[in-house]
Amino acid sequence: MKYCRFQLNGEAQYGLVESVAGRDAILRILITTPEESDGDVESLRTRRIEPIALEEAVLLPPVRPSKIVCVGRNYREHAAELGHEVPKEPLLFLKPSSALLAPGGVVRRPKISERVDYEGELCVVIGKTCYQPAADEDVRKYILGYTCVNDVTARDLQNKDGQWTRAKGFDTFCPVGPVVADGLDPDPWAGVGVETRVNGAVRQSGNTRDFIFTLDVIIRHIAQAMTLFPGDLIATGTPAGVGPLVAGDVVEVSVEGVGTLRNSVVDE
Ligand code: ZN
Repeated sequence: MKYCRFQLNGEAQYGLVESVAGRDAILRILITTPEESDGDVESLRTRRIEPIALEEAVLLPPVRPSKIVCVGRNYREHAAELGHEVPKEPLLFLKPSSALLAPGGVVRRPKISERVDYEGELCVVIGKTCYQPAADEDVRKYILGYTCVNDVTARDLQNKDGQWTRAKGFDTFCPVGPVVADGLDPDPWAGVGVETRVNGAVRQSGNTRDFIFTLDVIIRHIAQAMTLFPGDLIATGTPAGVGPLVAGDVVEVSVEGVGTLRNSVVDE
């Protein structure tokens, strides 16, 4: 199952994305929202619309999170490239929901930063309220699906500030989408490819099987501290190969089984 969020006659709607003659298209909209599904999107009521090719739809971020929780340094080679030790437990930070950017949207490089980096990542979408799950509970039931995220970072400000709120939190610094997908094959818990391209050239090519901390550990670690609500996002860390973006670049993040999140870059 895949869904997107898009503009239809001036209103935001969730659309189910289905394959028609080999092309992704929106054939039905959701009457109730994924956040109301209690983790079971198959149960949602839908209404048929005139089919719209996904590539022609005006897409919005496919999620409306109360918060975006991110994991820093979750791949050994990326920790090493920034000169950091492998952390002993997941390193968490937050991005504000005001940073969200739609698929196809434009990342704005702030005037006050000289180095803005891409970070392509697998993103978990929460489907069910989760707080301090029992040790024997399978936390997969709290996951609605997966999407792509670009954890855009003002690297110079991250180093200067000593904490990451500003560097990670500029408006447009959280492109997400294009769709939320579940039932991925292969399963992200076993390993899916995460690739970032800039102007078509591959810059990051990782696989979630190389996570330092598994999705199980990450979700438990976050939910030990804070309640995860339906729609909340978890950005699971970026593989090696981070690098700068400049005005005019087109940056793409692909997660195997989800699709490609594409955004352009301008100077503010
Ligand atoms: Zn990141």
